[in-house]
Amino acid sequence: AGLAGGVDPARIAALHEAAVRTFEAQRPRSRELHERARASMPGGVPMSWMVKWPGPWPTFVDRAQGAHFTCVDGIDHVDLCLGDTGAMTGHSPAATVRAVTEQLGRGITTMLPGEDAAVAAEDLASRFGLPQWQFTLTATDANRHLLRYARHVTGRPKVAVVDWCYHGSVDESFATLDADGRVVARRGNIGPPVPLAETTAVLPFNDVEALEAALGTGEVACVLLEPAMTNIGIVLPDDGYLAAVRDACDRTGTLMVVDETHTLCAGPGGCTRAWDLRPDAVVVGKTIGGGVPAAAFGMTADLTARVQRSVELEDIDVGGVGGTLAGNALSMAAVRATLTEVLTPAAFETMTAQAVRWTEGVQAGIDAAGLPWQVTRLGCRAEYTFRPEAPHDGAQAAAADDFALQQLVHLQALVDGILLTPFHNMALMSPVTTAEDVDRHTASFGALTQALVG
Ligand code: PMP
Repeated sequence: AGLAGGVDPARIAALHEAAVRTFEAQRPRSRELHERARASMPGGVPMSWMVKWPGPWPTFVDRAQGAHFTCVDGIDHVDLCLGDTGAMTGHSPAATVRAVTEQLGRGITTMLPGEDAAVAAEDLASRFGLPQWQFTLTATDANRHLLRYARHVTGRPKVAVVDWCYHGSVDESFATLDADGRVVARRGNIGPPVPLAETTAVLPFNDVEALEAALGTGEVACVLLEPAMTNIGIVLPDDGYLAAVRDACDRTGTLMVVDETHTLCAGPGGCTRAWDLRPDAVVVGKTIGGGVPAAAFGMTADLTARVQRSVELEDIDVGGVGGTLAGNALSMAAVRATLTEVLTPAAFETMTAQAVRWTEGVQAGIDAAGLPWQVTRLGCRAEYTFRPEAPHDGAQAAAADDFALQQLVHLQALVDGILLTPFHNMALMSPVTTAEDVDRHTASFGALTQALVG
């Protein structure tokens, strides 16, 4: 009783205080830059999430290359965050840099197509088994566009999402279930345009009964889901759950939209390919341009035909789908090179092997300290949570979170020269992450877990 993740809160506070002192001594130049930046940006950062890093100020980056970055205080870090998947390729992969550098001198954006887009779309089609592709700049936009298309072609008002999901800043997706099972805005949702219950049905992950009930209303245009949850810890699907989603969608005329933005970690064609999911549409983003802004969505031939029949050429630029810079030449050059030369099947083998090593290192630390924590891996991504068994749905995963403990594990890793994915305890392996990189984390984690149990 009174323990946070099996640990005495007073011990967490003491270790955190010690890590803050180390951080302060290590990072005076970041402090100076932060002081300056606060005059021109709220929180001193260009995007609000960047204030949520642990420590008294953010770490400012000088340069990043491969699986490492160096901060402005000259400290080398093993980067297990990799831009929260934007740089899953490793930072500045040579093939992407070459293609982008060449394109920079040949026109950055024209709002006209080029050959790179066709090659990129063909590559995505062969990976995911969906024939038709469109490009955006963010996964958020790709999701938003598919939700519009889904409501447009089905004529239904709602979308269904998984409880505790994250799909970018998509209005409909910030819904959760309250204690009485009602759909409400998620804690912290900023300025919802309409009450969430008007737009959204919420499905606890791995709950077939709730799925059947929601789709049975006939109100749901599409189910939008990650095939494994990755934004509240990793929650893997039960055997048969995703087949049940496909089946329920088929029986009710609901579209199944799979967001593979993070789960691309499972292999070259994400979970869609690895688990033979047969969705109506797929979203990929973040890393497909090697860090250059780009995302995409793929559709079946049938869905594409329904969309094309229902959208008039005259209105195509003002219908709510598309964007001026989407599909720009620079992004398309980056996506082509990244898909064909960097995120190859061979790369996924190396990345996955390092994630296995990382998971074994974390498990060893948990076992040696006797902590009631668990670690779950999906391809080249892995995550530990402060509960003894792998979570079965988002609510279980959310209940296991402890903000103070999370802040400590992140800060301790950081002062040991390791960047974890923020907001949860996740690590991602790039094709150039080495065993030594992984072992640096294992050593740091082992020392922290020992210190936690004293
Ligand atoms: N989908 C998923 C599954 C994500 O995890 C995220 C971001 N974490 C997004 C979409 C949105 O990506 P972006 O912020 O690049 O639009």
